[in-house]
Amino acid sequence: MGEIEQVMAMIDAGSASNYTTSLASMTEKLGKSKDRGGLRSIVEGLVQTAKEMEESNHKLEERLNASKQEIDQLQVNLEVVRTESLTDPLTQLANCKFFDTTLEQCTADARAKNEPLSLLMTDIDHFKNFNDSFGHLTGDQVLRLVAMSVKQNVKGQETAARYGGEEFAIVLPNTVLRSAMTVADHIRRAVMTKELMKRSTGEHLGRVTISIGVATWHKSDNAQMLIERADPCLYAAKRHGRNRVMCKTDPEVTATGTSSQVA
Ligand code: GH3
Ligand code: MG
Ligand code: MG
Repeated sequence: MGEIEQVMAMIDAGSASNYTTSLASMTEKLGKSKDRGGLRSIVEGLVQTAKEMEESNHKLEERLNASKQEIDQLQVNLEVVRTESLTDPLTQLANCKFFDTTLEQCTADARAKNEPLSLLMTDIDHFKNFNDSFGHLTGDQVLRLVAMSVKQNVKGQETAARYGGEEFAIVLPNTVLRSAMTVADHIRRAVMTKELMKRSTGEHLGRVTISIGVATWHKSDNAQMLIERADPCLYAAKRHGRNRVMCKTDPEVTATGTSSQVA
């Protein structure tokens, strides 16, 4: 039986009502009692009842403490399970499920507060080749490294997630397109400048690069629409040679006459 059930059972045992009955009967006896002997036995009875009640309260208190500990532990466990269910085990970034919830929340917030919101969709370039050359396990280490580069370039309210196998998504609340392009380019540069080396053998593995599609939220967008606008930008970045950041031509970009291509 769990702690809580045991406490409930103790309370259910009706100890308090037993004492009430016992005290009522003593009071009745007290009314009828005429001699010292009678009074003495009543007082002894009262002392006994009080003692039992104290013991019972003490046990109940111990049980309540144990219950509290059990509840605290359950809360900790629940929090651990909750965090695990939202975390990608390989990279420790947010997982796809957490990303979906976050993006929903962020689009709702952007609408409510009339604030900007941008999204980066990132994919490692030619990663299949990398795996084929160096093996899946080494590929996993590279995924961790890319995740770290992503993490180092996001802050505060921003969310970095492993969106798929070798794809990462970054939600940037309160961020206009131009700033999002800058963040994306920092991530791209952070990844491409890392010289990869197999720790166990010291073998040099070269470098990996990433391509990034950037989209910024428009008033009528829901989360899915924002993703659907970032995706083609990512594919365009792939088509245009990879290792680059691209966004859809946007008034902010066209106004200054600059290309949306940063690399
Ligand atoms: P592109 O530049 O067009 O993105 O080429 P790519 O080879 O990266 O693209 P493709 O989608 O053909 O291949 C993705 C590869 O990513 C396939 C798989 O080998 C690798 N990959 C996906 N998930 C994992 C993973 O969890 N671990 C490792 N090591 N590799 C993964
Ligand atoms: Mg891919
Ligand atoms: Mg890829």
